[in-house]
Amino acid sequence: MNNHVTVLEIDGNALLHNLNYFKKKLKPATKILAVVKAFGYGSDGVQVAKFLEDKVDYFAVAYSHEGIALREAGVKTPILVLHPLVQNLQSIIDFKLEPNLYSFTILNAFLKLADETPLMNYPIHLKFNTGLNRLGFWHTDIPKILSILKETNHIKVQSLFSHLAASEDLEEQDFTINQINNFTAIVQQFYNHLAYEPMLHILNTSGVVNYPKAQFDMVRIGIGLYGFGNDKLETSKLKNTHNLKSIISQIHTIEPGETVGYNRAFVAKKQTRTATIPIGHADGISRRLGNKKGYVIINNQKAPIVGNVCMDMIMVNVSKIDCKEGDEVIIFNNQEMIQNIADVSETIPYETLTAISQRVRKLLK
Ligand SMILES: *Cc1c(COP(=O)(O)O)cnc(C)c1O
Repeated sequence: MNNHVTVLEIDGNALLHNLNYFKKKLKPATKILAVVKAFGYGSDGVQVAKFLEDKVDYFAVAYSHEGIALREAGVKTPILVLHPLVQNLQSIIDFKLEPNLYSFTILNAFLKLADETPLMNYPIHLKFNTGLNRLGFWHTDIPKILSILKETNHIKVQSLFSHLAASEDLEEQDFTINQINNFTAIVQQFYNHLAYEPMLHILNTSGVVNYPKAQFDMVRIGIGLYGFGNDKLETSKLKNTHNLKSIISQIHTIEPGETVGYNRAFVAKKQTRTATIPIGHADGISRRLGNKKGYVIINNQKAPIVGNVCMDMIMVNVSKIDCKEGDEVIIFNNQEMIQNIADVSETIPYETLTAISQRVRKLLK
């Protein structure tokens, strides 16, 4: 049992607000796939999925064990595994997960299992590479894929999909539109030669914002669900879902010339009051936030981090703050604070959120 006092509160109302915000942007018939990979972007994929299960059409995870965790928690919604590996295919079948088959290696491995089991019309998804050059078949693979599909009734193509490389970047509009057009041409070949029409999807969060015309049958929303849009304006319409909190463990008063923390990185010029907080780099607080680059909020005031971030703790300057041991500490509770941490750490909110480690207690409220 995790009884840690450092807790990430996941705001259920904010999740719903964000989901509805995107629903309103889409046609009523467009299905929504909620991306809950990487522990629901650093929150808790199981709690988020349980909360959203009757409000979305699909979930996606990156790896099969993430999907297994959802099934073990009783989630019945279809789950797309974006990046299955051959070694995981049996467990994908065992837990009724739906694999993305993105190469002949994994397609043939899955067909072999489907044949041995045997499976009947098992839902699979085919991903095409249209320019990201990460995972996916090439359009030149289509004739071979079609001939494989014609010879089996063990699998059924539930969807055809692709992923945009730069949907957030309007300077890459030509490239993105080209990806969408390539996808449309790929789809056409399947629709011409298959007896049924698989679902289609290509948009992630910023794709929905910038290219809503390409919503096809479903969209895959990740970061938007967790409160971040394409830009400041879009983000301002979303609500923050990740609230990271702790408490003050101990307060010290140190004299001029004394130092705080490892490598004696902070040297007190005058008498200084510091508070020690039970959260450190092992919890996802980057060491780059040390030495006054990052701050926390105590009793509505900013307390800068002094010295180096330790593995399990940070020390903050509370000389000007009226506070005592046991008081609440807010690491972040809005998008601006998360963006600031990302900026100072020279990264993006995706990484700041997913860095929140498993040691932090997660609680959906
Ligand atoms: C992670 C991921 C998404 C979600 O992207 P966001 O930008 O977080 O909305 C969608 N599709 C694929 C293939 C992904 O890997």
